[in-house]
Amino acid sequence: MQAKIIKIISKNYEVLLEDDTVRQAKLMGKVRLQSSPVIGDQVVVEQVDNDLVIQKILPRKNQLIRPSVANVDQAMIVMSVVDPDFSPTLIDRLSMLIVHENITPVLVVTKTDLPFSNSVEEQIQSYEKGLMKVIRTSKKNLNAEILACLKDKITVLTGQSGAGKSSLINTIDPTFQLQTQEISKALGRGKHTTRHNELHQIGSGYVADTPGFSALRFDHIKPENLAQCVLDFQPYLNQCRFNDCKHVNEPDCCIKQAVAQKKIEQQRYDSYLSVLKMIEQGKERY
Ligand code: GDP
Ligand code: ZN
Repeated sequence: MQAKIIKIISKNYEVLLEDDTVRQAKLMGKVRLQSSPVIGDQVVVEQVDNDLVIQKILPRKNQLIRPSVANVDQAMIVMSVVDPDFSPTLIDRLSMLIVHENITPVLVVTKTDLPFSNSVEEQIQSYEKGLMKVIRTSKKNLNAEILACLKDKITVLTGQSGAGKSSLINTIDPTFQLQTQEISKALGRGKHTTRHNELHQIGSGYVADTPGFSALRFDHIKPENLAQCVLDFQPYLNQCRFNDCKHVNEPDCCIKQAVAQKKIEQQRYDSYLSVLKMIEQGKERY
């Protein structure tokens, strides 16, 4: 039987079976696993006497750390129209990091009830023209697309402090606030070494508590792999004259042509160039 690990407390694993029932499972000394299971893992479980036993961890599509979560489907980049300011640079940098981890980025534009400038409106529209899914929402008027987007997926939230991440989750599921507080209380004491790590069922999907991409480090990305992390570049890759084109000064570059023809937004290209430069100069941080 296959199952997904949704909660780990110390050595107790809570798993969701394919029929949507939740059961406790164990690791048995006899079973040697390649690595320790983390939340989000798809595992093979077997009934052994009275216990459900984890036999095997299936290959992970990705894994984020602190806290560990595997098989993340999407990362919502939560960005307010104002307060804090809408930042295309931050969106672009986060989205490169997210795509690099084999996770789908989704832009969630929050606080749309507040007045904001035409220039921000144009920036939002520039994303709406691109390949990343964009959802506009506010605390008072939750966009139902958020619910559809969360359905059956493992999601992490990222974005500046104050952008509205907690409000978004609390609007979707008012019981969540209580849960997070309980968790931070349990973790905050520090003395308790109990590992308490879980996926929160929100709407009909799962949200992991992970700071995820808060540290904007790019040192693990090779310069030659950066272009494929820009979602809007993807349809134009591998068509340049040079196989190792970095899309900077090379002739017959399809990315530069697409930018010139306004098929790719100038801002996405500028963000690419600035991150490429950072990586090449060995700068680690934004
Ligand atoms: P987080 O740090 O990303 O979790 O942000 P919070 O959810 O704590 O929100 C920061 C502040 O913005 C709080 O004062 C919220 O009440 C406010 N806020 C969040 N979402 C909205 C919204 O859609 N509209 C307005 N007007 N304020 C919001
Ligand atoms: Zn090129």
